[in-house]
Order: sequence, then structure tokens, then C-alpha cells
Amino acid sequence: MEFGPDLDRALALLRAGNVVGLPTETVYGLAADALQPEAVARIFSIKQRPFFDPLIIHAADRAGLAPYVTHWPEAALRVAEAFWPGPLTLILPKRPLIPDLVTSGLPFVAVRVPAHPLAQALLRAYGRPLAAPSANRFGRISPTTAAAVREELGEAVPLVLDGGPCLVGLESTIVAFPDAGPTLLRAGGISVEALEAVVGPVRLAKREAEAAAAPGQLPQHYAPRTPLRVVAAGEDVPAPERARAAFLGWGPGVAEGFAAARNLSPAESFAEAAVNLFAFLRELDGAGVERIYAQRLPERDLGRAINDRLARAAH
Ligand code: AMP
Ligand code: MG
Repeated sequence: MEFGPDLDRALALLRAGNVVGLPTETVYGLAADALQPEAVARIFSIKQRPFFDPLIIHAADRAGLAPYVTHWPEAALRVAEAFWPGPLTLILPKRPLIPDLVTSGLPFVAVRVPAHPLAQALLRAYGRPLAAPSANRFGRISPTTAAAVREELGEAVPLVLDGGPCLVGLESTIVAFPDAGPTLLRAGGISVEALEAVVGPVRLAKREAEAAAAPGQLPQHYAPRTPLRVVAAGEDVPAPERARAAFLGWGPGVAEGFAAARNLSPAESFAEAAVNLFAFLRELDGAGVERIYAQRLPERDLGRAINDRLARAAH
């Protein structure tokens, strides 16, 4: 991978308060200097993202985040040690240095250390945290290639660093640390099972009760333009329907009679399904069908996060 001239251009753009398309292992991000409110405002405006939906800040390592967090609970340190760099975001009490725009006025900031070598190189060279939500218009399918970022945001973004297709393909897992203990706010690239192996039981946040703590967890998100319906394994779609529809499958079965079909992982690999999810949704969205049927995955491992994305895409 050649980082030279593009990396220099990215650094100059970020310093000047501009945005840059950035590959990470989860999905492509739209990055801006987290400490410049005008730069952060640009992210919201390009994405058409509502200001009540806070952003995740990124650094090359935990030391790079230390100046912005007042306190690291023991459990947060344990999972950071185990999973960073990687697809895990922690919600921690913030210092005033972080602009209110980044956290939507909340006293907590979402922090992550991404693993992608190009993201690492940029963050290390920049030396300040970058706010970087997914590089798609608000509510739409997250981009997992540089071409998908171009397709989503076009000329509004002066530079998209191309780091190849994302190796995880799902957004980060988000964990908060209230007194009640580690709490999952969003399922993502690190499974609950993996977290629990490190930190013991993880609570699942109840949408109603804890919505205020995760304002961005809207029921509709990750949505194709084509209406999408989630179906159970083996659930029958009538033949006349199939001819006008696309099928997003999982596992060894073959979907017959659909106008278009993709299989997230014939071999039932959750990791493979995660990598394929957003790219296949994009393809089927472009297939000119009336509806996309997506098969629900088993509710364990990364299947939990994939089902969460499908449910929001269907809402
Ligand atoms: P993304 O859209 O992948 O950039 O992730 C941003 C999401 O992280 C938001 O929609 C929230 O659900 C969550 N988040 C970010 N900051 C906070 C925060 N300070 N407190 C709680 N959740 C947050
Ligand atoms: Mg997003």
C-alpha cells in the first residue's frame, strides 16, 4: 500500500477544517478534526445527519484518547486492552476539550482505536482525534469500498483515501459503562460473546429506557431505497412475488425464482456475511426490483449485529 502523496493531502485538508473519506476495518468513514467545531459541522451537513446524533472520535492508540476522557472504568480498560485496535467503541465521560457538537451535548464521548493500516497511519501523523461517522448520507447503507463513498457523497468530499474493501464490514460494537455494568448500546464487529469472555456479563440496553444514552440508534437506518423485508429461514415467498423481488440469503439453501439473489455466506460464516452485507445490499438495491427479501441469521455471534442492521433497513 502506498500512503505518500494522498496521506499528505489528507493531512492538509484535515488541518484546514475539511473532510476526508477514510477506510477503516468497519466501514468507510467521513473524517474531520474532532477539535474544530466548523469541521465537525461539515460532517453533519454533508451527511445530512441530525445534530442529535453524536459522533465517534478516533485516535491511533489509547494514549491518543487520554486527553479527552476524564475516567476509564476498570471494565473499559480491560476491553480496550483486549480489542483495540479494532471494531469496538467505548462511551466514556468527556473533558470539555471535545466540542459539544461531537457529543450532541452529552457529557460522554464515544471513542475508538481503528485497526486499518491507512487509518492508523493518518491518525498517527495527524496527532489529534478525528470524528468519523460512516461516509453515507444519513440513514442509508454504509459504504465498504472507496467507490461506494464516491457513489454516496460524490463531489462533497474532496479526497477519499482508498484502502480497499473493509475487512469487518459492520460498524463498531458500542459499549457504555454505567453503574449497572458494561452495557451494549449497539451490536457490531465484536460479538457480545467475545466481550463477555473478557469482561463478564454484558447487559443489553433496552431501547426505551436507554434511548437517551444512544440517540443515534434510530429504528430506521442502513436503508436501501428498495423496500426490504426480513424473513425467517424456510419462510416461503410466493412464486409471483419472487419474479419481481431480490433475495439476500444465508447458508447452503438456494433461492429459486427471484429476479436477483445474493448469498451472504453459503458456508454460514458470520465474518464472511458481515463483510458482504452492505456491498450486497447496495447491489440488490440497484437491481431494479420491487422488494428485497433478506433472510434472518441465527441470533448469535455477529449474526446479532447483522440482524440488527437488517431490521433497521426494513423499518
Ligand atoms: P456511527 O454512526 O457509526 O458513527 O456511530 C455513532 C453512534 O454512536 C451514534 O449514533 C450513537 O448511537 C453512538 N454514540 C456516539 N456518541 C455517543 C455518546 N456520547 N453517547 C452514547 N452513544 C453515542
Ligand atoms: Mg452510520
